[in-house]
Amino acid sequence: MTREARSSLIGDLQIEIEFDAPIGARTWFGIGGRAEMLIKPKDETSLQTLLRRCHQSATPVRVLGGGANLLVDDSGVDGVVLQLDQEFFTRRRYNKDGEVNRMLAMAGADLFKLVNETARQGLDGLSQLAGIPGTLGGALRMNAGGSFGDTGQAVESVSMLDMEGNRLDLQGDALSFGYRASSVPNGIILSAILRLQPDDPMAVRGRVREIFAQKSASQPMADNSAGCAFRNPTIDDVQVPAGRLIDEAGLKGLTIGGATVSERHANFISTTPQATARDVMTLMRQVQERVLDHSGAKLQPEVVIWCDDPGAPMP
Ligand SMILES: Cc1cc2nc3c(=O)[nH]c(=O)nc-3n(C[C@H](O)[C@H](O)[C@H](O)COP(=O)(O)OP(=O)(O)OC[C@H]3O[C@@H](n4cnc5c(N)ncnc54)[C@H](O)[C@@H]3O)c2cc1C
Repeated sequence: MTREARSSLIGDLQIEIEFDAPIGARTWFGIGGRAEMLIKPKDETSLQTLLRRCHQSATPVRVLGGGANLLVDDSGVDGVVLQLDQEFFTRRRYNKDGEVNRMLAMAGADLFKLVNETARQGLDGLSQLAGIPGTLGGALRMNAGGSFGDTGQAVESVSMLDMEGNRLDLQGDALSFGYRASSVPNGIILSAILRLQPDDPMAVRGRVREIFAQKSASQPMADNSAGCAFRNPTIDDVQVPAGRLIDEAGLKGLTIGGATVSERHANFISTTPQATARDVMTLMRQVQERVLDHSGAKLQPEVVIWCDDPGAPMP
């Protein structure tokens, strides 16, 4: 993009900007390419104006949360990558009135912080998300969760901007959440109102600790990874853990370059700092092929992959 085009896109906005930003290195995988422009808006108006201009100029826009479920191709991505980590987008406001309390939380808020902060105040509703890294925006997009529950169960409403910059406030019937999926339309999630139940702070903190301990006992939490690489497939109407299918195909420890199928949890792919995003993609493709051969199950990626190269070995 030319200097003039960039300046007409962003010249007068309240934003922080970084050109050629190494976003791959900032994901939980810790590897991958760069973004042409990483833009951090300081308020909603600047974000809205930016989205309108990007739409008019056909500039691609993506949004990065905490990068805990993301693989960025080694060749990087064109256009704008947004990150909502400025103060305005991490705020939360509590309404502690009645049996159900509510919190308005902005999408850039860190999920670990939300879980711990609400538990300390004796408010339950998010303890099921203990140990899941990332931002609230990413958790809403993915409906992050697991055997203890998911993000959607706490959600009363979601506010967002669509890719043309129009604001949408979605409540009740307009919202549904399923297995690692939500009905929230494509766009930028700004905030959500979450329902919280008052409880004994010791009890809520105990639940958070217990869920965290169970997660750390079975998952390689300290490795560089993006959590589960594949979604659990449904076979004969039953959801089957992808990790079990990968394990049964004998793939624990399978390595391509710096990417390895974790010995600890077969649905995690761990990376070394020397790994490339293509190592991860190639490994994921091999896992898919060998699980298909072994059990007939077709694994679909859970990890979001940003890749502009049509020739890439996309799983
Ligand atoms: C060690 C580890 C353990 C994990 N355990 C779990 C688990 O138990 N359960 C689980 O579900 N996941 C788990 N994950 C995956 C990850 O934590 C979740 O998917 C998380 O919700 C991703 O949030 P994020 O902010 O990092 O999103 P990112 O990875 O940055 O992005 C993921 C997707 O969300 C989109 N997105 C992000 N913010 C917004 C926004 N404001 N508006 C619109 N779209 C947005 C991105 O564009 C992208 O498509 C784990 C990951 C790791 C590394």
